[in-house]
Amino acid sequence: MAKKTPKAETHAFQAQVGRLLDIVANSFYSHKEIFLRELISNASDACDRLRYAALTAPELLDANADLKITLSINKNAKELTVTDNGIGMTHDELASDLGTIARSGTSEFMSHLSGDAAKDMSLIGQFGMGFYSAFMVADQVTVTSRKAGDDACWTWRSDGKGEFTLSPTDSGERGTAITLNLRKGDAEFLEPARLRTIVKTYSDHIALPIVLKDGDKEDTLNTASALWTRPKSEINSEQYTEFYRHVGHLGDEPWLVIHNHVEGKLEYRNLLFVPQSKPFDLFDAERKSRIKLYVRRVFITDDCQDLMPGYLRFLRGVVDSEDLPLNVSREMLQNNPLVAKLRSGLVKRVIGELRKKAEKDAEAYASFWRNFGSVLKEGIYEDFERRDELIGLARFSTTTSGDSFISLADYIGRMVEGQDSIFYISGEDTQSLRKSPQLEAFDARGVEVLLLADPVDEFWLPAVGEYEGKKFASVTQGGLDLGKIAKPEEKGEEEKSEASETPAGVNDLVALFKLTLKDAVKDVRTTERLTDSPVCLVAEEGDVDMHLSRLLKQHRRIEETATRILEINPTHPLITSLATRVGNEGASEELGDAAYLLLDQARIVEGESIPDPSAFARRLAGVMQKGLAV
Ligand code: ADP
Ligand code: MG
Repeated sequence: MAKKTPKAETHAFQAQVGRLLDIVANSFYSHKEIFLRELISNASDACDRLRYAALTAPELLDANADLKITLSINKNAKELTVTDNGIGMTHDELASDLGTIARSGTSEFMSHLSGDAAKDMSLIGQFGMGFYSAFMVADQVTVTSRKAGDDACWTWRSDGKGEFTLSPTDSGERGTAITLNLRKGDAEFLEPARLRTIVKTYSDHIALPIVLKDGDKEDTLNTASALWTRPKSEINSEQYTEFYRHVGHLGDEPWLVIHNHVEGKLEYRNLLFVPQSKPFDLFDAERKSRIKLYVRRVFITDDCQDLMPGYLRFLRGVVDSEDLPLNVSREMLQNNPLVAKLRSGLVKRVIGELRKKAEKDAEAYASFWRNFGSVLKEGIYEDFERRDELIGLARFSTTTSGDSFISLADYIGRMVEGQDSIFYISGEDTQSLRKSPQLEAFDARGVEVLLLADPVDEFWLPAVGEYEGKKFASVTQGGLDLGKIAKPEEKGEEEKSEASETPAGVNDLVALFKLTLKDAVKDVRTTERLTDSPVCLVAEEGDVDMHLSRLLKQHRRIEETATRILEINPTHPLITSLATRVGNEGASEELGDAAYLLLDQARIVEGESIPDPSAFARRLAGVMQKGLAV
């Protein structure tokens, strides 16, 4: 009897998936076995999701309530099948989940691919390529799935070359079976001993039994208890790492493991990780926390935003509460006082562990700070209660710290005699900041200045204002009062007491500049700020910091930046010789050009654009011509 086969639908992979599959299928990756970790990880997630759904709809579990993952081998057909009785996928889910890459940060990630196969593969491996890694070892993959509560069952099939098909199947068991037709060279994945080793290595932490089915023989390969419930002493670092990769969807090693069982008013377990490198989604606009919440071993959600503040969103891992009700819905978790208590306990713990690490190993802490410092600093203005602790954890580059970072306590310890402020300069990157003319007087006096180059610095600094009684002071803002800080005397020379006296004619030059520049500047004045440069720009005390106003203008939050003060170095040879010409016949045009040239030059040094480049060019050419004519 000819049974009519229902027609299969053909779908194209999303372009990004197509590219990924090309790379994956043609790579000579040395850790192909990780495909099994990825499939088992998905199967375990699927069972977690079913268990959660069954809290409110127990009928979903029906007679098939022992959740497990099965590996079956068919040596003759060279097939390996990974089966789970978890939540399953509908027709549409098969098409979207196994045809696109929905994970956040993926485009960002794909843009890092270089075209060099070996390099790209290690990057992909690090990113965790999930389901698609099956195509490293299989030339055809078949996924049959029935969603919990549905009757319809669908089969997804692909050879990984641009397309997949979907066809209806006679209803199978609830859950998902993924069959791999192994490639010629990959028959090792049909060997029970090899599979056992792989599962032990990568998936022992999975809380469900992973059963190997070889003919009639069935054998559980893993320990099958949730890793975070086991005593620390029984867990080795490899097991922590594998669990971290599983929960964190990351491929690196944890930088820090925070594993506790807390008993008392609240009882919970936390197994949290700080990653070693920056996850790609760290700066997603949503600033989402990725911690998985369990209640008595049952997975509840990985989207409980009240559990962890945004400034700790780099953490990965699980929190398992004994106190929340099992039938807690995700909505009930919002503004929940128990969750708030959990959060406060967790935050305290994490901050404490970070502090310990900072005290014990400054170098390791610096690597953490490079990755996550700018995120942690968000807490300084968001978490009022923990502000001081978080400032204590902050590290800074300074004008004298070289490649290393210092704390504010270090800074205060290194303040020079007469210094009563914490000086800082802010801008886009520390290297160009280091060259700012406004730092000259500080360098000359051996005064250290913080170099702040994270956009977030513009937010917490004004909120904090001072630390341990010392005010933060921008070196590009307001009048400079270095009065009490002595300049080290130059050796062998007499003390230059005239430094504070303004050389003759400079005051006239300042007056002339003011007249010439009019509204282009707020003021022109002499300064002690400079030693090597003739001029610089500063913001008036009380105005928005120059860097911040540039930032705001870039983001179109303000139309125009406030006009600045042009400060003049009265001892610079250029300025003193210009000063001698004030009052000379015909000098006023020359001095007017000089005023504009110096202003434009100061703008360029600030990294700003100049309002009239052609006038600048004309003036500069004029001056050069005169110089050559002499
Ligand atoms: P990730 O696990 O990081 O989301 P994957 O590529 O591993 O990425 O899987 C993509 C998606 O496919 C999963 O998020 C899930 O929705 C779905 N999926 C994969 N395997 C299964 C499975 N065994 N059961 C149910 N859904 C699955
Ligand atoms: Mg996955």
